[in-house]
Amino acid sequence: MNMKTKLRVGVLGATGMVGQNYVRLLENHPWFQVSYLSASPQSAGKKYAKAMTGRWVVEGEIPENAANIIVNSVNDVEAAAKACDFVFSAFNLDKEAVRNLETQYAENVPVISNNSAHRLTEDIPLIIPEINPHHLQIIPSQQRNRGWEKGFIIVKPNCSIQSFLPPVFALIAAGYPVKSMAVTTLQAISGAGYPGLDALGMIDNVIPFIEGEEKKSEREPLKILGSIQDDKFVDLHSLVLSVSCNRVPVSHGHLASVSLKFRENKPTIQEIKNIWESFEGVPQTLGLPSAPRPPIVVRKEIDRPQPAKDRDAGKGMAISVGRLRECPLLDIRFSALSHNTIRGAAGGAILSAELLKAQGYL
Ligand code: NAP
Repeated sequence: MNMKTKLRVGVLGATGMVGQNYVRLLENHPWFQVSYLSASPQSAGKKYAKAMTGRWVVEGEIPENAANIIVNSVNDVEAAAKACDFVFSAFNLDKEAVRNLETQYAENVPVISNNSAHRLTEDIPLIIPEINPHHLQIIPSQQRNRGWEKGFIIVKPNCSIQSFLPPVFALIAAGYPVKSMAVTTLQAISGAGYPGLDALGMIDNVIPFIEGEEKKSEREPLKILGSIQDDKFVDLHSLVLSVSCNRVPVSHGHLASVSLKFRENKPTIQEIKNIWESFEGVPQTLGLPSAPRPPIVVRKEIDRPQPAKDRDAGKGMAISVGRLRECPLLDIRFSALSHNTIRGAAGGAILSAELLKAQGYL
């Protein structure tokens, strides 16, 4: 695909933590070109470089193309629809307002969202491209039932589950259904957005509470592992999850400690390693530009994965697993890590957009 045929992309909430990552990751993307940026009315009307003064916290410099774009207001749906072939949504408003605004966008243009507002909406797919790419099949009925011609909405799940669900799914897909899981997450500060949490409150400290996170982490996997019936998603209710979420003084990278029980047969430790090492999803088969190879990296060292050492595996898109061992309470336990603002946010959504493009939805 050459520059002229690249799809024009809008980033809604471009000044935030996730928005900045979109702008960085989309620089030189082979299929997509950032053509439109929006944020709150306070940032609107300024060049992106000006709106970002003192706030650019991601790697490298602001890409030149983006630096000169005049930031629009997220409320201007019409301008975005004219300028974009599709939009990534990463703005912060209360849930009801996000739901309404994203619905207005979808009347005009496809929306790929990082917000939680539509994650449990019954006809909106919640996509991890390696796990449930087939859930995109609901898009034609979503459009038909809502009267949308060009637009639709797909959503990215919560960043915490991105660490532990792919390795668990690999086991399920290999014929080892999981009955129950206990998960403790150790989540990075950047997961709280910009400007983030009070620095003094995070130094020498762990906060054993992240608002709404445990409920999302226990509920969203059921939809992702579920199926479509009568144009709606139906959960796989038989999996029981207990998730405890903690904020830790780490810049990027959500780590999860997982203990799980299989429903019937239990694979050996070596079998599990083999399953993880050979796992591939549709993004890898299709050779999508942002698909990590391998998607799951098995660390053999006794003390890995670690956020500082492993979050950038597969350019921040791979899941690193390690410390796999027997569990005296359930069957097995392990640690799993992913980069929260790349795989868990902008990078994961870009991979979903690539999947949509490869499958003819964009
Ligand atoms: P953030 O850093 O707080 O950025 C919020 C964005 O929303 C900014 O662009 C901001 O624009 C805009 N905004 C704020 N108030 C607004 C208003 N009244 N009207 C319109 N736009 C407004 O948040 P974030 O961390 O990027 O998160 C964005 C979304 O992604 C959230 O729903 C979050 O839950 C989700 N998410 C975050 C992560 C992560 O790791 N951080 C991971 C997965 C999902 P101004 O700069 O102009 O105020």
